[in-house]
Amino acid sequence: MRQVLLGHGASRGNALGRARVRLPHALEVAEEHIAADAVEAEIERLHEAIVVVQAEMQATRQRLHGALAHEVGEFLDMHALLLDDPELLQGLDTLIRQGRYSADYALRLQRDRLASVFEAMDDAYLRSRIDDIDHVIGRLHAALHRRDADLQGVAGEILVTDNVAPSELVQLQAQGVLAIVTAAGSTLSHSAILARSLHLPLVVGAAQALQTVNDGDVLVVDGGSGQLVVEPGADDLRAHRQRLREEKRERKQLYRLRREPSRTLDGADIKLYANAESREDVAEAHALGAAGVGLYRTEFLFLQRSELPDEEEQFRAYRDVAIGMTGRAVTIRTLDVGADKADRTGLALTNEPNPALGVRGVRLSLARRDVFETQLRAILRASGYGAVRILVPMVTTREEMLAVKRLIQRAGEQLRREGHEIAERVPLGAMIEVPAAAIALPSLIGTVDFISIGTNDLVQYLLATDRGNEALAELHTPMHPAVLRLLSDVIRIARRRGKPVAVCGEMAGDPLFTPLLLALGLEEFSLHPGTLLEVRRAIRAYDLAGLRAGARALLRARDRDAIEDWLRAANTGGGGAPPR
Ligand code: PEP
Ligand code: MG
Repeated sequence: MRQVLLGHGASRGNALGRARVRLPHALEVAEEHIAADAVEAEIERLHEAIVVVQAEMQATRQRLHGALAHEVGEFLDMHALLLDDPELLQGLDTLIRQGRYSADYALRLQRDRLASVFEAMDDAYLRSRIDDIDHVIGRLHAALHRRDADLQGVAGEILVTDNVAPSELVQLQAQGVLAIVTAAGSTLSHSAILARSLHLPLVVGAAQALQTVNDGDVLVVDGGSGQLVVEPGADDLRAHRQRLREEKRERKQLYRLRREPSRTLDGADIKLYANAESREDVAEAHALGAAGVGLYRTEFLFLQRSELPDEEEQFRAYRDVAIGMTGRAVTIRTLDVGADKADRTGLALTNEPNPALGVRGVRLSLARRDVFETQLRAILRASGYGAVRILVPMVTTREEMLAVKRLIQRAGEQLRREGHEIAERVPLGAMIEVPAAAIALPSLIGTVDFISIGTNDLVQYLLATDRGNEALAELHTPMHPAVLRLLSDVIRIARRRGKPVAVCGEMAGDPLFTPLLLALGLEEFSLHPGTLLEVRRAIRAYDLAGLRAGARALLRARDRDAIEDWLRAANTGGGGAPPR
């Protein structure tokens, strides 16, 4: 029966596919016995599934490049090891042979047995390993059924699940998953950011999806609007095809802008930098004429692995971005693990009562000088290969920036003594994403060469809305008078002091907000390359002087409705409506 569910569009794109439902946690498999003479065939069926999963993992591994190879590679290696683990496999054979269980039920029993062993462990890290077991067992279960089910010949599947980890996305895409729908999650999560980077349609917060969708249902997903149609009718299919045609037409039109300047109607040039981590992002950013990389999130090198990357590995990753951008600025942000970017190296504290307000970003770097110095050395060495800049996340105080400066200076002297070729000057910037840093900017700005406003976190901390909490999605928006006032102040102060200021949160990549940011005086945006051309198109449609003249009206807006009215007026050429 046709049903329409609405979530939030987290990564654009349209897909038509069969649902693959992945239930959270343990496998829901009923107890099932087989005949004595079916035992050997059942074991063989299981072993074939293991070979299929091993081959899939290997194929995925070979497709990985750049930061993604680091991020996802270790995770895959660990799962490949698990698949080779005699404890896991012999246990399964024994269950089928002695208990005469089906392979599915043996998987469930084995999963529960291993889970109880891990759950009893004291070490939080080892306890978390149960997720890996679940992942591997889930894949085996899917492989057992892929051959039985009537899904062959279907172009692809749409995964419907509770939540998805950033590290799984590449793997899922390589397996042919066309789109993902999650019941929880937020459009600002790191999974969402990565899905956009992979151009993989993603709808999050479709709360009813797991209850409504069954394995094998036909789904139409619109990752832009967040709409999901279960068992679509003729009209839905027509609308889907229409959206695909529009998407194609739009891509063609946008592509024509790749060599055009990001210039407003009245001739102001706006700089569009890219948020880029993977080799593909960097290549795309370069091809689309980005002014440089405005945000390289180095934590992607640290996630999903059990050992920290050493100086050499980091150096090579940063150097390749610097080389890839051929002399354009490359802004490497120092490590920002913690909060929703949990790592497995034991670096981020796992038992913090409130990790978003905990030891993350520069706080962690200053607490772990050894790790920080290694990273600074790697970045400084990369500065010999391009216009590298250093950006520091989660800055709250002037003292933090002064401490970072001292460490950079010391690392630079050391490297020069060792004979490394490093740039004479590596500009240093602070992320403005903690409200205190934004409010006290005049006291901080003297310590930096540039600033970059992280609106994802700034909004989270200013409005006290967890960026990953689906229930607060409506409230978590830059369209609040407090956010606009703070953005306006930060941009004004930076400009007055002659310091370049960019916005690098997701807001910068949403063309809806382009006129608003231009009105507040922003001249540098850092955004995912996937939306760069759209924002360029928006910039080219506005008259900057007109928008700036409307800034006062914007700042007088009392609520979200009034801000939306202003945006509507700006979009129809009004340049800002009077406040309500
Ligand atoms: C931000 O907070 O806006 C930002 C760009 O950093 P991240 O999303 O990595 O926290
Ligand atoms: Mg941030």
